[in-house]
Amino acid sequence: MTIGAAQPNDNVPIVLVIDDCVDVHRLLAARLRNEALELVCETSGEAGIERVHQIEPSLVLLDLDMPGMDGFEVLRRLKDETSTSDVPVIVLSGMQSPSDKVTAFDLGAVDYITKPFDLMELRVRIRSALKMRHLIQMLAQRAQIDGLTGLWNRAHFDERWADETKRAERSGSPLSLAVFDLDHFKQVNDTYGHPAGDTVLQGVARLIQNIARQADIACRYGGEEFAIIMPDTTPEHAINLCERIRVAIIEADWHGKPGQRITISAGVAGSTGQTSIGRAEWIEVADRNLYRSKSEGRNRASMTDVGSKGPRLADAG
Ligand SMILES: [Mg+2]
Repeated sequence: MTIGAAQPNDNVPIVLVIDDCVDVHRLLAARLRNEALELVCETSGEAGIERVHQIEPSLVLLDLDMPGMDGFEVLRRLKDETSTSDVPVIVLSGMQSPSDKVTAFDLGAVDYITKPFDLMELRVRIRSALKMRHLIQMLAQRAQIDGLTGLWNRAHFDERWADETKRAERSGSPLSLAVFDLDHFKQVNDTYGHPAGDTVLQGVARLIQNIARQADIACRYGGEEFAIIMPDTTPEHAINLCERIRVAIIEADWHGKPGQRITISAGVAGSTGQTSIGRAEWIEVADRNLYRSKSEGRNRASMTDVGSKGPRLADAG
């Protein structure tokens, strides 16, 4: 399963210290030695911001009083930019006035610790900020997973499809899209009930996930519809993969109902390289092929090469 792939710094979080005083760096390095984190230090706001872009830290410990760009400005700039606005920032400051604290929180700091700090307190606040970030990331990821099947959901599909079409356009690399629909799924629900229908959807999703390759993005597109985005895949290879899925599904035994056969129809649109087709039109072509598979008797896959040579129809199954 490729779902839930860990971020590179998920195991050992990187904590970036931005403080003009190197004694603070030394103190933190010594006192946080036994924490499960990697400490990186910068002595100026400018260098700190650059570092955030480079290493994407899990947490920033930020001093307010620094020559040149002060901590407030660093905070403002981090929060103003989409790529860095989610990085949690704990302010570590000698400034004790309530108005400084209010300003720091208003600018988006998650916590404020006054110097000289108590190290036990610092440790628990760092742990708490890291835990919160982990939970937020997990929730964001869960929001893109289909609850019933564990595949990616439609929202994720839309995001990735936009990314992958852009990438293929830039690099001129092949790209294919397959859409599937379970044949006569309403009959399964009507005959065996909705829980049985859900079991079939889960089983089909599992077969799709097993056959799809690491780089493929398998999604539940809606109801009984599935989609697979296949980066770097020609339409010929894509339809082969669809065929393997179609055969695996027709051969599967559904628990307690040995006579029951489930079939799928599929439509593929793919390009071997450059294509002038837009990303919405690409989905329409795949959909049209799905309906063509349906109208030609179901339990089959149809394909169109949307490459520069112009649409070319082919089918299998
Ligand atoms: Mg300072």
